Amino acid sequence: MSEELYYPPESVSSKAHIASMEQYREMYERSINSPDEFWAEQAERFCWFKKWDQVRSYNYDVTQGDIQIEWFKGGQCNITSNCLDRHLETRGDQTAILWEGNEPGENKSLTYRELHREVCKFANVLKSHGVKKGDRVSIYMPMVIELSVAMLACARIGANHSIVFGGFSATALADRIVDSSCTVLITTDGGFRGAKPVPIKANADEAMTLAEKQGVHVKTCVVVQRVGEKIPVVMQNGRDLWWHDEMSKADPVCEPEVMESEDPLFILYTSGSTGKPKGVMHTTAGYMVYTALTHRYVFDYHQGDIWWCTADIGWVTGHSYIVYGPLANGATTVMFEGIPTYPDAGRFWDVVDRLKVTQFYTAPTAIRALMSCGDDFPSKYDLSTLRVLGSVGEPINPEAWRWYHKNIGKGRCPIVDTWWQTETGGILITPLPGCTPTKPGSATLPFFGVKPVVIKTETGKVIEGNGVTGVLALAEPWPGQMRTIYGDHERFEETYFKLYPGYYFTGDGCRRDEDGYYWITGRVDDVINVSGHRIGTAEIESALVLHEAVAEAAVVGFPHEIKRAGHLCLRFSYGRCQRK
Ligand code: AMP
Repeated sequence: MSEELYYPPESVSSKAHIASMEQYREMYERSINSPDEFWAEQAERFCWFKKWDQVRSYNYDVTQGDIQIEWFKGGQCNITSNCLDRHLETRGDQTAILWEGNEPGENKSLTYRELHREVCKFANVLKSHGVKKGDRVSIYMPMVIELSVAMLACARIGANHSIVFGGFSATALADRIVDSSCTVLITTDGGFRGAKPVPIKANADEAMTLAEKQGVHVKTCVVVQRVGEKIPVVMQNGRDLWWHDEMSKADPVCEPEVMESEDPLFILYTSGSTGKPKGVMHTTAGYMVYTALTHRYVFDYHQGDIWWCTADIGWVTGHSYIVYGPLANGATTVMFEGIPTYPDAGRFWDVVDRLKVTQFYTAPTAIRALMSCGDDFPSKYDLSTLRVLGSVGEPINPEAWRWYHKNIGKGRCPIVDTWWQTETGGILITPLPGCTPTKPGSATLPFFGVKPVVIKTETGKVIEGNGVTGVLALAEPWPGQMRTIYGDHERFEETYFKLYPGYYFTGDGCRRDEDGYYWITGRVDDVINVSGHRIGTAEIESALVLHEAVAEAAVVGFPHEIKRAGHLCLRFSYGRCQRK
């Protein structure tokens, strides 16, 4: 190995679940050569109403028929029994969610027992408004604690949540409500952006009106009061209800719905290379097993750790690594409402210091933004509780990697650069902190059960060996993989399986170096990664041409110092003549 290499420190590897490369290799080989045995063993850690009959069955090749992926078929479980009920006896009084509000020190927490109670109550609220197994529920909220309660409540009764990032526009929300025909929406009066309160319910109102025009009638809208009088809201009689009123009369007992392994758990929309976002559908058991296992091994989670993933729950990272994975492992998970630079660029480090965070997972864009504010901010805080640092969302440039390693990890915390996607449900390519030697900028090696291949675009053939460049695809299914695009299985097959039959195509370019390490080189489709968030150029273009003055629009990405891969560059020509 010729490049700059960082080895895990003894302090981490000596206590790690996976403590050596021999152990990693042995487990990896087993996961690939005997997947049924490997995954059955992992699934045994969970509680099931009924065990599975078959670990996996799939058709991955479009030329052989419809794409179909099934894990733990015949099994029955509920993800909330695994995230909540089964912890009550052993750690009922342990903090499950540690919420840090927008203002420093504005904290709230829920123990496992309290979270269980809140979830059951809200599940009963949903039931009382007619929500049942299989129904879709839209959630449009900032990072309030009730967001976690609402999503778990949906999962409790088998309803599928469709969470829409709170920063999205009314039109984006309306499109998603319509696509998934949601008749229930959960939202807040407003939220905060730095010191400024911002409206949320007003956007939700507009979205509900837009959805109505497209034939989808939201009949119930539950509103959490987060901001209060600074954001007055209009409540529509018969449709809009206050969260606190509903919860005050809700029964705290709600038995978990019995879910088949392949029953849908949630839909999460993500941008594609056409204007219409894709409703990525994840199902129950495979997603549960995969998110919990990756959380445990990739971040070397141990009981008593204080885990913090800074993502917003509106993105898949928040679904998998703030809520489902950590809670399935019985962790204490931090949920942060604010932004990294409010009230100043020391905010993350202040939270790490006060809450004694042990693992910290964030995006390169945040690291670069904080790096540009100087070393003085982190140096004011005690970061000695940190053990593992993580990065996700886009390739991390070596300069930011080194800054993170030196100034935050003080040279003694391994950095796990985790590559994955909304579609993959959980992390696929990543170092393991106790064993993998890391190279700044590389996501390194595949996780258990993951079989990456590099395909040469010109020939469509898999390139064997190391020191090769092409596009990244995956040769076999893993439990956390998406199963379909909601309402459009054909588009699912077309997008991911048609181009290279027999493989799941990721849409990312990649290089496998001489040591077999993977380096993700970015998207190869019409998707731009801005601050770690995926945006389809076609989506922006179609929004621009809605304006009456715009006749044509083209969007391209150009590099930005902090936002990196794509800062949006908009080119459009004016001059659509008077639209009526
Ligand atoms: P999303 O589904 O919105 O999370 O976006 C997934 C895309 O983000 C991937 O296809 C990659 O292009 C990019 N990505 C995520 N994590 C990484 C990483 N660790 N290194 C490089 N690119 C990443």
